[in-house]
Amino acid sequence: MPCGILAFQGDVAEHEHALARLGTTSLRVTDRAQLDALTHLIIPGGESTVITAFLNESGLGVTIQERVRANTLAVMGTCAGAIALASEVGSPKPIDSLKLIDIAISRNAYGSQIYSFEEDVVFTPTGEQIRAVFIRAPKIVTVGDGVAVLANLRGGPILAQQGNVLVSTFHPEYLEKPTVHQFFLSFSNSCLPASGGRILE
Ligand code: GLN
Repeated sequence: MPCGILAFQGDVAEHEHALARLGTTSLRVTDRAQLDALTHLIIPGGESTVITAFLNESGLGVTIQERVRANTLAVMGTCAGAIALASEVGSPKPIDSLKLIDIAISRNAYGSQIYSFEEDVVFTPTGEQIRAVFIRAPKIVTVGDGVAVLANLRGGPILAQQGNVLVSTFHPEYLEKPTVHQFFLSFSNSCLPASGGRILE
């Protein structure tokens, strides 16, 4: 089954390349009907104001909320995608996020584009060191009780999971080895009804 990538705006092609390196085909998603056949969806980095407006105006946002809550869809949001999924967003502009993971996130928290950077961090599920790329990245400022933190930068969470929702403030699609995508495809399978139950409450 292909993995969907929300394809209204953002770095869709980079996620396609990451999935292709894992031998997984991808499907660009721009309408609700395309979601029906999918169990996995990536919301890419880009501009969260634009992505959330598209989700809300197209009706896709409500469909994603229903499917995630019914455990029939796993979603990974990277950077702007993480903002789109957060329960609370700190932003000068109002952001109507999907509220599917219990985190508060603050937009552009490291400053403007020129303060983008890369840093080695540990991907906790495997213990691997990965080179995380931060581009006008947000910061996760609080996480709720049901949220697992899977990587940190200088003591702050940068990769978090709650049930079938995974968010990263960096861009795992730029990793040479698509470790985080592989993790997303495997853990989300196990939280879907076909293979039984949520993995986190
Ligand atoms: N700063 C952007 C936003 O708030 C996110 C940047 C990114 O996705 N690389 O939407």
